[in-house]
Amino acid sequence: MTSTTLEASKKIEVLDHGFVELIDALGSDLTVVNSARVSFGKRKTELNEADEKLIKYLAKHQHWSPFRHVQLQFHCKVPEFVARQWYKHVVGIAYTEGHGAYTVDHAWNEVSLRYVDASDFDFYTPQGGFRTQSESNKQASTDELIQNDVLMKAYTDHAQGTFALYKDLVEAGVAKEQARGVLPLNIYTEFYWTISLQALTNFIHLRTHAGAQYEIREYADALEQLTQLVVPVSYKYLLEG
Ligand SMILES: Cc1cc2nc3c(=O)[nH]c(=O)nc-3n(C[C@H](O)[C@H](O)[C@H](O)COP(=O)(O)OP(=O)(O)OC[C@H]3O[C@@H](n4cnc5c(N)ncnc54)[C@H](O)[C@@H]3O)c2cc1C
Repeated sequence: MTSTTLEASKKIEVLDHGFVELIDALGSDLTVVNSARVSFGKRKTELNEADEKLIKYLAKHQHWSPFRHVQLQFHCKVPEFVARQWYKHVVGIAYTEGHGAYTVDHAWNEVSLRYVDASDFDFYTPQGGFRTQSESNKQASTDELIQNDVLMKAYTDHAQGTFALYKDLVEAGVAKEQARGVLPLNIYTEFYWTISLQALTNFIHLRTHAGAQYEIREYADALEQLTQLVVPVSYKYLLEG
């Protein structure tokens, strides 16, 4: 990827063992401006006030295509149950038809538990207690916490027990692709994710919303901070819509 040079690796720790790291970025606010200005045969080298107004206009009037030229690449470590929610955002990771056959867009690559021994993988433990079930939203939780040390210990013991069984299976020669079936949904997985600024803004908009699960909201907040580093002006106006 031809990239905007990032001064340093940008990594934000999330939850107890997770993170989001901005690996690379293709483009900047100027990329959005120049993608739009090519219509008039113009190209700018420095962003000025008129360009900011143009970005605002593009976002307000839903001229999305200039925002798709900016691509961001992240390395993410997230609990499996968060990854499953993440993966519902199909733009950038879906199969597309090309060269007469279906090919996968190489924008999501994940650690394979067919290859890798997961015995030492991390698993997520809720910090501070369990959240109570929401009465009004059958999918959601509240901010109220249940502090129950016995249940919390049972929760972690259970996860550790599944890893112990997994290890026994692998040591007995069972294929890793089969042994992984006993691992818990709170196991951490890792993937590289490359996405356009437009699709990323949609992700952040949906996953920072109060209706989204707390754990994925934490990741969406981290993504938002990293995105603002790359395209502060575009992101501001995309959010305003
Ligand atoms: C709070 C919350 C609760 C949820 N609960 C559930 C649940 O219980 N079960 C469940 O299965 N999912 C659930 N989801 C996932 C949800 O249904 C979406 O699949 C997910 O949020 C991805 O959103 P998206 O389609 O906008 O994103 P993307 O796939 O990234 O798509 C981005 C945008 O591209 C456009 N687009 C994408 N695909 C097409 C297409 N084929 N045709 C036309 N336009 C397209 C749309 O404008 C879309 O908004 C939930 C999501 C949230 C935020």
